[in-house]
Amino acid sequence: MEPQLNLIAGERCAATSGRTLDVLDPSDGEVFTTLPRSDARDIDAAVAAARAAFHGAWGRTTATERGRIMMRLSALILQHHTALSELECRDTGKPIQQAQADIMACARYFEYYGGAADKLHGEMIPYAQGTTVMAVRVPHGVTGHIIPWNYPAQIFGRSVGGALAAGNACVVKPAEDACLTPLRIAALALEAGLPAGALNIVCGLGIEAGAALASHTGINHISFTGSPQTGTAVAQAAAVNHVPVTLELGGKSPQILFADADLEQALPVVVNAIVQNAGQTCAAGSRVLIDRAIHAQVMAQLKERFEALSTGPGLQGLDCGPLINRKQLERVQTMVEAARGDGVRVAARARLVGGAPSGGFFFPPMLLDDVPPAHTIAQSEVFGPVLAAMTFDGEDEAVDIANGTPFGLTAAVWTRDGARQLRVAHRIEAGQVFINNYGAGGGIELPFGGMKHSGYGREKAFEGLRGFTTIKTIAIKHG
Ligand code: NAD
Repeated sequence: MEPQLNLIAGERCAATSGRTLDVLDPSDGEVFTTLPRSDARDIDAAVAAARAAFHGAWGRTTATERGRIMMRLSALILQHHTALSELECRDTGKPIQQAQADIMACARYFEYYGGAADKLHGEMIPYAQGTTVMAVRVPHGVTGHIIPWNYPAQIFGRSVGGALAAGNACVVKPAEDACLTPLRIAALALEAGLPAGALNIVCGLGIEAGAALASHTGINHISFTGSPQTGTAVAQAAAVNHVPVTLELGGKSPQILFADADLEQALPVVVNAIVQNAGQTCAAGSRVLIDRAIHAQVMAQLKERFEALSTGPGLQGLDCGPLINRKQLERVQTMVEAARGDGVRVAARARLVGGAPSGGFFFPPMLLDDVPPAHTIAQSEVFGPVLAAMTFDGEDEAVDIANGTPFGLTAAVWTRDGARQLRVAHRIEAGQVFINNYGAGGGIELPFGGMKHSGYGREKAFEGLRGFTTIKTIAIKHG
């Protein structure tokens, strides 16, 4: 594949330094293209282009025109669905059917926010006699978007979709491990009629291009999705310039199975919630909390399901693809080995298909049983297909274990008892709680974001659109 280029002010360009980064296919470990290794100079150019667009052609578009451009982009994404899905599959290693679903979701973000663009408005406020007050919703201006590698197309759509619909001009720093679909979709945005400079993509390392964007004095808002550690660094850098930040960070999401749960409905979802994207999902259901009364029965069924899963190259469309890179593979292996060293038992292991390339970063899904809730493997994000099972006695203990990690992103409650469903949902500290279903990563229309160390601010849904605006109050004294 030919070398990839940044998109700045509507033009394709290499990094100012001329340097590049290799892009590896996680399914075989081979280099298949390169990215620009951009630095602060490229970020400066992108921020200047975005500022010019915000004060120029893009800033003059009406909300209806913005919506139409985004609808056209959505249609173009669907038109290129096959090629984009294959690109996402190759870049991230995820099974092709998951890449296809991600590209559909990306198109849906642009459709959703395109439709919402001209439905966003402020309000009139009753105030003193002879005075009219308006609280007007205005875009922040230039927004920075720092995106992780696990769902490049989806998170690009979610973050940039909301920002553009609200009228901001964007500078995007996708992840160095997977940024091919954002580059391709940005090119389609120009085809859809987006003015040059309204959307700029600058590739490079987090510590170079990412840090330059987070600390830039020319941006007015940052949307960051990634690890809690990097989120802290980004928020600290932005704080120096008093730039507001939305942080979408990690999770250790619990699936709580009460004794009266419909296991036939629950267990396929519990397995998928950790196997999807090889567990590299912020909202992965990485802990399953099982009522002691059904523990043996649930573990026997989960074991059967795990052992039936197959892992292999993304394009083969199996249950699980490789992890993103060697570092991630080693991290997962190290965490699991440490847990086993502490006596945690492996209850089941999925298999790697015959003929999988030896250079691929494969880690077949693993089920751990009787994990102490305070153990590192039950507390920290593994970001791999490792499900930690633990047992509880009664509702209070279930809630304590569910809430007993630093995270609070998503959770699921499985029970037929209607009163318990809502009681437990209200007690769970998480940004999203699902009852008798689970939507890791999905749900464009549902407000999404964390509590505690999972972050703050909300994306997706109309709430995400509001987050890309600020309120300007205009008070008129007219007597
Ligand atoms: P990461 O934090 O390493 O990287 C995320 C992005 O930040 C990348 O683009 C990277 O280049 C950039 N970056 C790295 N260092 C930086 C710095 N010092 N300054 C500015 N930018 C920097 O995360 P990752 O490993 O790519 O993604 C995995 C993490 O993302 C997991 O913790 C996962 O839970 C989280 N995540 C959260 C959500 C959510 O919506 N809550 C969604 C997906 C992933």
